[in-house]
Amino acid sequence: MIDAHIHLDQYDAEEIKDRIKRWQENGIDGVVGVATNLRSSYDILKLKQDFPIFVRAAIGHHPEIPPPSKHDLYELTKLVKSERHNLSGIGEIGLPTYRKEELLERNREEEFNAILETFLKLAKDENLPVALHAVHEESKKVLSFLKKHSIQKAHFHWLKAPDEVIHEIVSEGYYVSVTPEVCYRERDQRLVKKVPIDQLLIETDGPWQYGGPFARKETSPLLLKEISKSVSNITKIPLKNLNEKIFNNTNRLYPNFVTDKS
Ligand SMILES: [Zn+2]
Repeated sequence: MIDAHIHLDQYDAEEIKDRIKRWQENGIDGVVGVATNLRSSYDILKLKQDFPIFVRAAIGHHPEIPPPSKHDLYELTKLVKSERHNLSGIGEIGLPTYRKEELLERNREEEFNAILETFLKLAKDENLPVALHAVHEESKKVLSFLKKHSIQKAHFHWLKAPDEVIHEIVSEGYYVSVTPEVCYRERDQRLVKKVPIDQLLIETDGPWQYGGPFARKETSPLLLKEISKSVSNITKIPLKNLNEKIFNNTNRLYPNFVTDKS
């Protein structure tokens, strides 16, 4: 099992080695570690260096925080190119939703769009998939930017979107992931039914904390088992079969050790 979206750099650095060992002993094959800014991108690359098989690295700048400085954006672009051989994706990128109002007090909306477009062009040039934060009313906008830049490999993480947008996302062949919320939230359960099984991924977005049966529990890739059990119940696909399919999907979108640009 592979966690398709986790903020691995936000776990205690001192304990990460023991944690990864425990996760591996419990059937977790790997994670896609996503970054939130330049500093976090360096941290993700360091984790990739320390755990090259377990960690697949994606670097970028999260849209729910102030946009990167010109310098940081330049450095991030340089880093993607110089570390290309160590990368499985670009992310987490997208457009702000939850903190949009607050962010727009200091920054213009065009700035967020421009940064997203910079990363999309980079992903296209470097033949990397994008890990997207594109939810609610912003999902349609992000989708239109993907089309504008002819992006073929994209992952809408923890998607929440109107039905017609979900339909468009899957008909473009993009991937969608569900989190532990699928175990207890109807919205996410309905989403699973709308995504073809070959385009579905599972993730924890850890260390983000969940409610329902996971309230006050630490979020880790160990929750993937609960997610796939729920997905198996919803789709009626036997668990073993389902896990194999999702594993293959994640490998297809975020291969480890990509060296050619074909
Ligand atoms: Zn995230």
